[in-house]
Amino acid sequence: MSECLNELKEILTSEVLINEPLSSHTTMKIGGPADILVTPKSVIEVEQIVKIARKYSIPFRAIGRGSNLLVSDKGIRGIVIKISDGLNALSIKDNKVTVGAGHSFIKLATLVAKEGLSGLEFAGGIPGNVGGAVFMNAGAHKSDVSSVLEKALILFDDGNLEWLSCEDLKFSYRSSILQKVRKGICLDVVFNLQPGNREEIIESMQRNKDYRRETQPWNYPCAGSIFRNPLPNYAGQLVEKAGLKGFNLGGAKVSNIHGNFIVNANHATAKDVLDLIDFIKSTIKQRFDIDLHTEVEIIGEI
Ligand SMILES: Cc1cc2nc3c(=O)[nH]c(=O)nc-3n(C[C@H](O)[C@H](O)[C@H](O)COP(=O)(O)OP(=O)(O)OC[C@H]3O[C@@H](n4cnc5c(N)ncnc54)[C@H](O)[C@@H]3O)c2cc1C
Repeated sequence: MSECLNELKEILTSEVLINEPLSSHTTMKIGGPADILVTPKSVIEVEQIVKIARKYSIPFRAIGRGSNLLVSDKGIRGIVIKISDGLNALSIKDNKVTVGAGHSFIKLATLVAKEGLSGLEFAGGIPGNVGGAVFMNAGAHKSDVSSVLEKALILFDDGNLEWLSCEDLKFSYRSSILQKVRKGICLDVVFNLQPGNREEIIESMQRNKDYRRETQPWNYPCAGSIFRNPLPNYAGQLVEKAGLKGFNLGGAKVSNIHGNFIVNANHATAKDVLDLIDFIKSTIKQRFDIDLHTEVEIIGEI
């Protein structure tokens, strides 16, 4: 590990963090340490990190803003590559927006709305970065990333760099090829938007944001929806019907406002949240004979 560390320090322009608590890098404010955490500032740096990790057979994983993550209390072994502000270049030409995967998704939606470009109104309240949004096919208000993405630059785990089209990414509900089938790090994205009326676009995005403020908890750390919706049912409604809103285990609590949100109400551990997830799953199975599956990504050493 020490040789790997030295090589990382040589090639990176930013600090190499050791035993870095991931609670500082997740919106839930939960998570044990990453052996190593790096925040690359260019595509070349990401390529070099992956090369070094492969050379020493050290596992690696990209994260963004940690807004869809539940990291275990023991944390993550190997290298965590935080794709963030260093990789946030943005250029707009006609209707095409080329943006680094580390760009904030909310800020991007706001910027393009001001340019009078339509298509990302749904993203105005989705925390996280562009890369995380591609990985998750993030969406809301009946739209998602797949409806506007033209192509994405992916560094695959074997070191190959490739542009994938929207079709290649095989998007479906909160899912992309990057999750299981072909693991890789999203580095750059091209969105194809439509010219529209600036004021109408901004208004529509504001309506979406207002709706969120009324229906979702903003005052506690959380990771958005915990469960995928078992369509045609909605996870939040099932949890509410089962009388579990406000129910807590340790410091983790089902939000009083939205049944599909678990909040870190009082110094919750990952174990508290995992226990609560299991409890909700078994209650919903017993009451409605429906299997819930998590939308939040559960990662790290258990
Ligand atoms: C209050 C709140 C509301 C939310 N509302 C919504 C919503 O309406 N709709 C919705 O879809 N989501 C929602 N989310 C969840 C979350 O914001 C999205 O899933 C977001 O796209 C995750 O982006 P991130 O950068 O935070 O990714 P992270 O949480 O850091 O990572 C999520 C997954 O993506 C992978 N990943 C991250 N970056 C990359 C990259 N560059 N390349 C490859 N893989 C990567 C990680 O390995 C991990 O598996 C909400 C979350 C919160 C806290």
